[in-house]
Amino acid sequence: MPTRLADRCLWLRQAIAPHETDAPALKGAVKADICIVGGGYAGLWTALELKRRNPALDVVIVEADICGGGASGRNTGMVLPLWMKFEPLRQLCGDEGALRLCRASASIVGEIGAFCRAHDIDAEIRPDEWLWAATCGPQVGAWRPVMQALARHGEAPFREVSQAELDAIVGARTLRAGAIMGGTATLHPGRLVRGLRKAALDAGVRVFENSPMARLDRKAPAVHTQAGSVAADRVILAMNAWSAALPELRPAILVIASDDAATAPVPDLLRRCRYESGPLVTDSQTFVSGFRSTADGRIVAGVTGGAIGFGGLDGRRFEGRSPRAGDIANAVRRIFPALGEAPLTESWRGPIDRTQSGLPLFGKLPGAPAVLYGFGFSGNGITTTPLAARILASLAEDRVDEWSACGLVRPPIAWLPPEPFRYLGALMVRTAVRRKDRLGLQERKPGPIVRRLAALAPGGIVTTGGLDPTGRTP
Ligand SMILES: Cc1cc2nc3c(=O)[nH]c(=O)nc-3n(C[C@H](O)[C@H](O)[C@H](O)COP(=O)(O)OP(=O)(O)OC[C@H]3O[C@@H](n4cnc5c(N)ncnc54)[C@H](O)[C@@H]3O)c2cc1C
Repeated sequence: MPTRLADRCLWLRQAIAPHETDAPALKGAVKADICIVGGGYAGLWTALELKRRNPALDVVIVEADICGGGASGRNTGMVLPLWMKFEPLRQLCGDEGALRLCRASASIVGEIGAFCRAHDIDAEIRPDEWLWAATCGPQVGAWRPVMQALARHGEAPFREVSQAELDAIVGARTLRAGAIMGGTATLHPGRLVRGLRKAALDAGVRVFENSPMARLDRKAPAVHTQAGSVAADRVILAMNAWSAALPELRPAILVIASDDAATAPVPDLLRRCRYESGPLVTDSQTFVSGFRSTADGRIVAGVTGGAIGFGGLDGRRFEGRSPRAGDIANAVRRIFPALGEAPLTESWRGPIDRTQSGLPLFGKLPGAPAVLYGFGFSGNGITTTPLAARILASLAEDRVDEWSACGLVRPPIAWLPPEPFRYLGALMVRTAVRRKDRLGLQERKPGPIVRRLAALAPGGIVTTGGLDPTGRTP
């Protein structure tokens, strides 16, 4: 079947060649060593890692849509190591464990580049720095606790930038302060995920698309779709926000949309603004917004904190055009007024799998040790999914090593109540966060109720608190 382009986001329309066809749908009874559910970055990197370790392993991917049709083909393409999550990582993994994971994530940027070169994938990887900026007084210094904690361990991935440097980057006096991190990058998310799909097929991974898992057998693991089944020694659930479909995982994960938009190519504007390449820029709101430029001369920008899923992912509220293009345009204008001149001609959205700490969870499904899960990338999946692949591969192989023993391997922490309280509570917290962020822009402080509610927000790409190790486990 020809791969559908209609209603797909810009990245996927650019990445899917006109004559591409979908992989076959699953039909009949299939056996495999490992069955991975979900063909995004997490599922594809894991399949590739398993094959790298043991080329003879029979690995199958069962994907509801096409590989990359989820968040992996729709993200903003900001490649950020885990340094800004050092504090929650430290509490989970200890000082050394946290440093090891941060350093491993920092080297992932180069590793993705090397992988793409080796597999002839043009993912448009560009070593853009990251400007973590403050657009108002309350945001100033958001990065300092992380910088100070890292400095105590001899690490200094950020440097604070002067007002003159900030003004020069954005061409206006819109930023109050900021810190720059190197070792970051931007890339074309669609080309990366479709390249991973091709690499997986080339490595002998059997891929079934348009094959949503309808049922999971937990004891003798098997994945059932409408027309077929895969019985496997191990099943790996790499389903991002869709993990909330599993009752064991649902209480551990809040499903909330992120919304992105893009301009048409505006190379002249980018040249005038001296923004043909980095830095990629984010503000320091709790619901962070940010933007970057692309190789074909566009601006791609995004805002977090959108639609909330009832239970898991309900209906089409995470698909299609974004209803928040106005918010996205304002976010760009607020930081970089000249770039805000260019109209946003494309928009899309996708689901984010937010955990309380903003850190992913890995492990064996309670009561079903042959079924593994990996989810909760919380909007920071490009660098964390290659690490996830190592963790999931080691768990699948029953290896005891630095990956299977790392602190991110833990039970699905049940921190969310059942519906409808979960949805209503999430709405209240989202309202409080939006109010706090809005008041901040007016240099005003929220009252105690808003502050308390906003403090309950789960982790995003930046987490300095909100830990889950103390949460109730099922
Ligand atoms: C708008 C947006 C912007 C983002 N920006 C960034 C960014 O700049 N940088 C960054 O690092 N991260 C970003 N992210 C997050 C990042 O995209 C994710 O963390 C990452 O893609 C997660 O990979 P994944 O494989 O877990 O998820 P996905 O790519 O979503 O893969 C999960 C797959 O599971 C499939 N699936 C679901 N249910 C079933 C089922 N029942 N049966 C079979 N298959 C199923 C889905 O179809 C999907 O393809 C962003 C996300 C969004 C939505």
